[in-house]
Amino acid sequence: MEAKAIRLQGLRKSFGDTTAVSGVDLEIADGEFFSMLGPSGSGKTTVLRMIAGFESPTAGRIELAGQDVTGLAPFERDVHTVFQDYALFPHMTVEENVAYGLKVRKVKKAERLVRARKALADVRLEGFGRRRPGQLSGGQRQRVALARALVGRPRVLLLDEPLGALDLKLREQMQVELKAIQREVGITFVFVTHDQEEALTMSDRIAVFHQGRIEQVGTPAEIYERPATPFVAGFVGTSNLLDGQSAQQVVGAPGTYSIRPEKIRVLKESAESAECADSAEVTEPEHSTVTGTVAEVVYLGDATRFLVDLDVGGRLTALQQNLETSSEDVAALRGTRVRLQWHRRHTFQVPDPR
Ligand code: ATP
Repeated sequence: MEAKAIRLQGLRKSFGDTTAVSGVDLEIADGEFFSMLGPSGSGKTTVLRMIAGFESPTAGRIELAGQDVTGLAPFERDVHTVFQDYALFPHMTVEENVAYGLKVRKVKKAERLVRARKALADVRLEGFGRRRPGQLSGGQRQRVALARALVGRPRVLLLDEPLGALDLKLREQMQVELKAIQREVGITFVFVTHDQEEALTMSDRIAVFHQGRIEQVGTPAEIYERPATPFVAGFVGTSNLLDGQSAQQVVGAPGTYSIRPEKIRVLKESAESAECADSAEVTEPEHSTVTGTVAEVVYLGDATRFLVDLDVGGRLTALQQNLETSSEDVAALRGTRVRLQWHRRHTFQVPDPR
């Protein structure tokens, strides 16, 4: 069996009294786009820094391509880290920035140039080699940082919130590009982010971090559709949980359940007029129905978010596409009585926390 690109076993890290990472086991395959997702302070950066060799673990073991690297210095590991601030040399041209690492490694000038140009082409920056970083946009500087990482052909690329400094539009564009570049170069990417949408968009698999531990590892669809813990259900997507009395009433069994907002239809309370909804009403037994009052409506342009206080207790969020409705239409729905309906197969039981 081929060795994993990365294997972490019982990884721990304490800084004095603070436990940043408290027991992480993880395997990342060759060529995977793998994201570590979690709120601020959940330990993901510390795990990344331990893989890079900038921090040494308090306990545990790190393998890269089957080799134990736990005690090795950063430069002895076949990895490269891309930081959020890019750390480009302002006085060097783009090409010199990209080739710098090769120069340090005493690669001959002609080869340096060929490889730097190839790396710039990989990140779609042909023709920019003679500019200086100050003459580039934020997105272009980010690509130079990426080219500089790719030029050394590391086996693993570690990216610490690399898109964090970009504005939303550019970030969305770079998400798509980064994934395409990764697919083309075939290098294993380990990507740290606190942005769930970013992780869902780009990753082959995601590890969700919480308080120094991994709560769930899975594909974006598994994480989103089948959250393994209430924390994951809340952190990835909108927290839409039914528990206690309301779970008993709506689902017919005790426990904690999750329903994604876009799966829930908002209908008028009376059966005849379903004008809040964009399609005909459905009352088959495979649907769950619950009544409530609209506490808040948020017009999002392409969709509307309804926060509904349920008669059985608790609150659910429903998301409806604005096919016919306008902002005035939806504002008028605040305080009105509604019925929420969704297909039973979209109700997922969330396992209780350990
Ligand atoms: P962020 O998204 O904010 O970077 P994170 O999930 O990457 O958060 P870490 O940076 O790994 O979290 O930090 C985990 C915990 O360890 C935090 O409580 C942090 O304050 C602490 N920590 C990290 N580095 C150090 C350090 N060098 N000294 C002391 N405590 C640290």
